[in-house]
Amino acid sequence: MGFKKVETADGSITLYHPLFGESYHSVSAGAATESLKKFLLPSQLLEKAKTLKEVSILEVGFGLGYNFAVAVYHLLEVNPSLKLTYLSLDLEVNPLIGELKLPPPYGEVYEKIKENLLKGKTKFSIGGVEFELLLGDARKTIKTLGRKGFDAVFHDAFSPKRNPELWSYEFLREIKNLLKEDGFWVSYSTALPVRKALQLLGFRIYNTKPVGRKSPSTAATLKGKPLNDSVYPLSPKEEKKLLSSPKAVPYRDPCLCLDREGILKRYQEEVLKRENP
Ligand code: SAM
Repeated sequence: MGFKKVETADGSITLYHPLFGESYHSVSAGAATESLKKFLLPSQLLEKAKTLKEVSILEVGFGLGYNFAVAVYHLLEVNPSLKLTYLSLDLEVNPLIGELKLPPPYGEVYEKIKENLLKGKTKFSIGGVEFELLLGDARKTIKTLGRKGFDAVFHDAFSPKRNPELWSYEFLREIKNLLKEDGFWVSYSTALPVRKALQLLGFRIYNTKPVGRKSPSTAATLKGKPLNDSVYPLSPKEEKKLLSSPKAVPYRDPCLCLDREGILKRYQEEVLKRENP
């Protein structure tokens, strides 16, 4: 299939996806480190899990299952009796998953996850953790979820330029309808079309602490309050850019069915109009 193994900064291995033309995780941040610092910490779930009996996570892009393993390990560490519901969306289970490992302390839980997936199971539980992977285009599968309130969304598609289908205003609106008001949406991307779509949907946007690069990542919430210092407000310069840059317009996919080129073409046309009013 042309997937290539790539070692990342923390020693964990990721894969390079030939069709999307990028790797599943940040090589400079480290794959396991990225799961912890760009997803779990800014989601505020480690704090919430100390007092809640149940938490739920919706993930866009299951990939190699690293975010799942890291979340299970740390959430159960802070609250061993926690009930965790983890629902993930992806096109496929990567055929190389059996060859991958995660370093300590995640290795053990990752092996259990792989064991289930390699048996062809897409729905299973590990102790108090209920997992389900919905296979197919996430723009379709998300429509089957009703109005379940998730405590966090891990938005981990490939980058907006390579995978714009999963970053449009319309797709993010579906996500908004599934997230609790005090829940956090988290992602590595700071792309202007994405942040603008979130802002137009009523989200408050935060930076999350840089890891493996100088620039931050993004967390967003409708009415939640940050409970740790992994997130911080946008600078006045970033606020201004989001307000007035011609590039700060969302990707649009009104039917949730456009192809990559169609979404990007429409975006470029909109930017050009704004640059030359
Ligand atoms: N969260 C993953 C992890 O922890 O290993 C990494 C996810 S990887 C960056 C992005 C994933 O998005 C890929 O597995 C890819 O198959 C999936 N993807 C891309 N387009 C999709 C679509 N239209 N619907 C569902 N999944 C999609």
